[in-house]
Amino acid sequence: MPGPLAGYTTLRMGGLAERIVAAGSADEIVRAVRAAEEPLLILAGGSNVVIGDSGFPGTVVLVRSRGLRVLAEDAGSVTVRVDAGEPWDDLVAATVANGWAGLECLSGIPGSTGATPIQNVGAYGQEVAETISGVEVYDRAEGTRYVIPAAECGFAYRGSIFKYRDRWVVLAVDFRLARSPISGPVRYAELARALGVEVGDQVPLADARAAVLRLRAGKGMVLDASDPDTRSVGSFFTNPVLDQSTYELLLERAAELGDPPAWPGVDGLVKVSAAWLIDKAGFTKGHAGAGGVTISSKHTLALTNHTGRARTADLLALARDIRDTVHARFGVTLHPEPVLINCTL
Ligand SMILES: Cc1cc2nc3c(=O)[nH]c(=O)nc-3n(C[C@H](O)[C@H](O)[C@H](O)COP(=O)(O)OP(=O)(O)OC[C@H]3O[C@@H](n4cnc5c(N)ncnc54)[C@H](O)[C@@H]3O)c2cc1C
Repeated sequence: MPGPLAGYTTLRMGGLAERIVAAGSADEIVRAVRAAEEPLLILAGGSNVVIGDSGFPGTVVLVRSRGLRVLAEDAGSVTVRVDAGEPWDDLVAATVANGWAGLECLSGIPGSTGATPIQNVGAYGQEVAETISGVEVYDRAEGTRYVIPAAECGFAYRGSIFKYRDRWVVLAVDFRLARSPISGPVRYAELARALGVEVGDQVPLADARAAVLRLRAGKGMVLDASDPDTRSVGSFFTNPVLDQSTYELLLERAAELGDPPAWPGVDGLVKVSAAWLIDKAGFTKGHAGAGGVTISSKHTLALTNHTGRARTADLLALARDIRDTVHARFGVTLHPEPVLINCTL
């Protein structure tokens, strides 16, 4: 049946879809996808999409499959297959309760398990690429169902072969987790401080989860219906990854502001803090755009539908203003993290 999409997104934005179909199992997802005429949109938790005000001129398949089963286990590890529609944070909570390590720092991220490989979800020093062993997909080009091993998923910083491509529908994700009541070494300095340990120390899984949830809540990064700062897609922009010459240009242009937070990568590439660039370009926390959109009062990277009645066009106008001002000031191009559907930046 036709219907408005705003209610299926964490931004509470997006116009009408011609047809919305809920699919409660992997088989139902495959049937719904096969039956749908183009264009087709797969939507799960709606926490990483910006949908245009004119909605979607086709079928939207809502991923609502649930379930977890153990595929293999030994003394040191367990491999589980998790249905795509399983709410991500329910899975993380279950793994922590079971003493399965590897997902604890990804606590509190909204959305579905099936969407986590799409942008290689990550936070606080952990990424799903580290624990995913395979992704079960329906291949729309071939009309077949198979598992893509992790090594072939093209995982990168907020990316994979799945992002921006609609060939594969994720039906389930396999995770290989360590049997351990304590976390791996804590890699993120802010998390280590919150736990009262040093970077590299290990902590009980439940402590890591609790600390991450506290940190995230303080930044409006855990969904809370009573907090308009969480009416967002989380971070709107990714941290830009710069080559040496662009990085040096940035350091020159930012000379009087101090060095931006930066993380060196491979091949001379440097990842820099998008939040710092945005803040120093004059867009501070709480900054209001037109039409009821704001920068979150708790996190510079989150653009919010503050009033709950803002339009996608208003959100994109603010995002454009930020992107263009940062570029003019620092020579760095910011890229959106969410998937833009029927709209452009
Ligand atoms: C408050 C908040 C905090 C956040 N914090 C983080 C964070 O710390 N780290 C991080 O990485 N992300 C974060 N996000 C972004 C988001 O939660 C994740 O990207 C999440 O994995 C998206 O899941 P979803 O089910 O909501 O996907 P959706 O928004 O429904 O879909 C996102 C994209 O994936 C596609 N897709 C979804 N499911 C499938 C499927 N089964 N098969 C094929 N394609 C599919 C959709 O078509 C769309 O292109 C945050 C978002 C919010 C609102």
